[in-house]
Amino acid sequence: MSGFVSLVGAGPGNPELLTLLAKRRLAEADVILYDRLVNPAILMETTAETIDVGKLPHHHKYSQYKINDLLVTLAKQGKRVVRLKAGDPDVFGRGGEESQYLKANQVDYEVVPGITSAIAGLAAVGIPITHRDFASSFHVITGHRKQTGEELDWHNIAHQEGTQVFLMGMEQLEKIVRQLIENGKDQKTPVAVIQWATHWNQRSVLASLADIVQVVAAKQMGSPALIVVGEVAKLMKTLQPHPSLLGQHILVPYKKQSQLFSLLQDAGASVGFFRRGEVRKVAFELPNLVKPATLFINDVNAYRYFQEKMITQGVDQRHLAKWHLVAKNEVVAKQLRLVGIIVDQVSDRFDHLRGPINVIGEQHQLAEISTSETVHLLTTYKRVPSKQNIDFANYQTIVFPSSAAVQELISSLEPIQLAGLKGLTCLAMGQKVAEACRSNGLDQVVAVAPAYQAVLAALKEARQVDKVSNSNR
Ligand code: SAH
Repeated sequence: MSGFVSLVGAGPGNPELLTLLAKRRLAEADVILYDRLVNPAILMETTAETIDVGKLPHHHKYSQYKINDLLVTLAKQGKRVVRLKAGDPDVFGRGGEESQYLKANQVDYEVVPGITSAIAGLAAVGIPITHRDFASSFHVITGHRKQTGEELDWHNIAHQEGTQVFLMGMEQLEKIVRQLIENGKDQKTPVAVIQWATHWNQRSVLASLADIVQVVAAKQMGSPALIVVGEVAKLMKTLQPHPSLLGQHILVPYKKQSQLFSLLQDAGASVGFFRRGEVRKVAFELPNLVKPATLFINDVNAYRYFQEKMITQGVDQRHLAKWHLVAKNEVVAKQLRLVGIIVDQVSDRFDHLRGPINVIGEQHQLAEISTSETVHLLTTYKRVPSKQNIDFANYQTIVFPSSAAVQELISSLEPIQLAGLKGLTCLAMGQKVAEACRSNGLDQVVAVAPAYQAVLAALKEARQVDKVSNSNR
């Protein structure tokens, strides 16, 4: 049996700048080999084995030979392999070399193009790579040549009228600038340097060819960055977008279709995910549905499993017609409406409810509730902690929609990660959630109303305060 290798472009960084085919290949993969510049948010959905073959500059974790070899070995084991590369695999991504190696070893493969940083990175700061008034061609040039000793044709490069984009050029910036000037490029030519384009930590500067080295040094900019030489660069001044949450890096719980993710991304923030515990079914017996009682619903998942069980026993929601249905809070009530249930009551306590009361929920959540003669606990599912692979130092804020999310995250962290989490501002959706944060040792807690719009508003407000205090400095 022979597998298949997809050389897939991950785009410049923003996880939504991924092609549909790339998304499908990631979902189908058995194993994914990914590079250093690939945004980890792209890997959240996959259940495949992931291997970080990231090469730090001058620090090869995996040699190119080893990567080639691994691709062939895995494919020959019959696996669907994705080799995930930043931008486009064929733009200075060694896609060509890997294709040749796979071909020579009779491995079937394809190239799934990606959005290259060499174009999208410019757009991210408002620079159109061509423009009828300023540039009728563009040239993508490496600042780092294979060690052949051959020089680029600087005379030719300096005389091109089009936009020049240098990749891997930051260590050579001084030399690039010198060569361009010595070969006749006007010193007033605008140059933009864009670091970490479309990532949360995107930064950019604009200067003339004569000044760019000094400006980059003063701003301490480094790799990975694009060096853009040409008249179009000056458009950055007027066309650069400044969405309100640009530069904010926010952690939210992972969900396949997350409204919160979309809201925050649309406001210009970058969003990363933490994993909720994995949901697992547990065996349970239904109460006697013929005798109406109270059903206290702790969360919507609990109800889903309850309903699933009813269906397997040949009964449906109509059998609950005479039951008194109670949702633990407004969020649960709202979620239940979406699955066709309008509860009779919303309450977070059940001591005043009429018995008998059947409380349905997640195993750990129910463990905190004391039973009585009238209160019966029914665990319909459980969550087991997921491993987290998060560098908390890269985030400013984390959003907790529920106390369960707080507990699940904390119980899945190593002590060193927990220390990292404590450095973040926690946006808690509701007072109860804020209490859960504090009682778990998190102290930078801001409580907001339990609605995604409230989260967005709080982030924007904090941003305004930041701006004012920065401008007063
Ligand atoms: N295949 C990639 C380029 C790989 S070479 C692509 O198509 O984008 C690596 C270089 O690409 C980096 O040194 C840097 O110059 C550039 N680069 C890649 N992603 C970048 C980003 N998000 N922001 C700025 N430069 C980036």
